[in-house]
Amino acid sequence: MITKRSSSAVRGRRNLTEPATRRYDVAVIGGGAAGSMCAIEAGKRGRSVLLLDTAQGRGKKILISGGGRCNFTNLYATPENYLSANPNFARSALSRYTPSDFIALVERHGIAYHEKKLGQLFCDGSSRQIVDMLNTEAAAAGVETLDARVVSVSEADSFRIETDAGAFESESLVVASGGLSIPKMGATDFGYRLAKQFGLGIVEPRPGLVPLTFAGDDLSFCAELSGVSLDVVASCAGQSFHENLLFTHDGLSGPAILQISSYWPSGKPISIDLLPGQSALDMLTAHKDEARELVTVLGDRWPRRFAQAWCARHAPSRPINRFGPRELEGIAALIEGWELRPSGTRGFGKAEVTVGGVDTAGLDSRTMQARRVPGLYFIGEVVDVTGWLGGYNFQWAWASGYAAGQSV
Ligand SMILES: Cc1cc2nc3c(=O)[nH]c(=O)nc-3n(C[C@H](O)[C@H](O)[C@H](O)COP(=O)(O)OP(=O)(O)OC[C@H]3O[C@@H](n4cnc5c(N)ncnc54)[C@H](O)[C@@H]3O)c2cc1C
Repeated sequence: MITKRSSSAVRGRRNLTEPATRRYDVAVIGGGAAGSMCAIEAGKRGRSVLLLDTAQGRGKKILISGGGRCNFTNLYATPENYLSANPNFARSALSRYTPSDFIALVERHGIAYHEKKLGQLFCDGSSRQIVDMLNTEAAAAGVETLDARVVSVSEADSFRIETDAGAFESESLVVASGGLSIPKMGATDFGYRLAKQFGLGIVEPRPGLVPLTFAGDDLSFCAELSGVSLDVVASCAGQSFHENLLFTHDGLSGPAILQISSYWPSGKPISIDLLPGQSALDMLTAHKDEARELVTVLGDRWPRRFAQAWCARHAPSRPINRFGPRELEGIAALIEGWELRPSGTRGFGKAEVTVGGVDTAGLDSRTMQARRVPGLYFIGEVVDVTGWLGGYNFQWAWASGYAAGQSV
């Protein structure tokens, strides 16, 4: 894909019949959240900026995000809400461009918004308002945009960027080409290939914020309950999320499952607490002298269909006063630590994000610049920094874009 040109080839005398290659201070590959923010900030500093994306790709993920209302940030975003091989990497950028900074921008553009839950901020109207805001800011900052797919990059005394709409040169090159999620919207491994070309490492990409699939009896169990949802705490690998779980035709989804999926080590079980915030044993013991069936007692707390299916599988129902103390302890332990072993995930086709990406070990956390390649930057989802569900991924895109925008 990529050719290494010698310095003399770039500096060499141009054939006068060839058009001059346009040269910019900064070229940004990818007009999503991160690339747009970086281009705007660089433009505001007086840099000449070219922002490259395909007509189909530009701003597309923002448009479809948050169910069309763009969950553009999270009030409580901290470095602890991100996964990365280096958990400290995101700290610097997140502290220098905070949710309040983005909220101030949104408010300057008169965009109405609301907190849905857990600090998640959504547009009252449409995601289109965020895209329009970025376009307005980019135009005001003098950013040039071009509908073009970048096919290769080479470096000599500057970066030479070959696109399907011509070639360009730039002093700095920012790669904001996103992750592998939703290939049908044009996601590719372009950014990873570019990173490898320039000697950077890649943390194996895998789908994140993605529904989990099951096989055998677990699959039949989930499929039978398709459409049922309940409040749970889902846990694995030392992480827990208190949110809703949703049964689907091929497994589990819902916010609790999407969140835990990013941490799920393939092949391991996940644990589900079916009575969050209370002791299952205390609850069962409080009813121990009643003649009501166990399924009826549990059905007061869970959707009835789930209580029936769960009891049929794990605790064939009888009047609760006929269970001995040991049996109630066993059932309580199962309610608080119901283990299920996923067979896999719905893959990049259904994943909201990509976990993994360009290894942060090769990047400066203040500027996002490649340590060994002056002028080369990686920002946004292409980098091995992945946020939780709830506006954290956009906050990383804005913050990493801002950090690079101050440095290019
Ligand atoms: C369905 C869905 C809903 C989501 N909702 C939310 C939400 O509400 N809140 C939240 O925080 N996060 C959400 N996310 C995650 C969030 O959208 C991403 O983390 C974020 O968009 C990443 O921004 P980015 O700029 O790094 O990459 P992207 O937005 O993926 O942008 C990368 C751009 O690079 C372009 N590109 C790639 N290769 C080339 C090339 N060779 N030449 C030119 N251009 C190229 C692509 O066309 C694309 O436009 C959602 C994701 C999905 C899939």
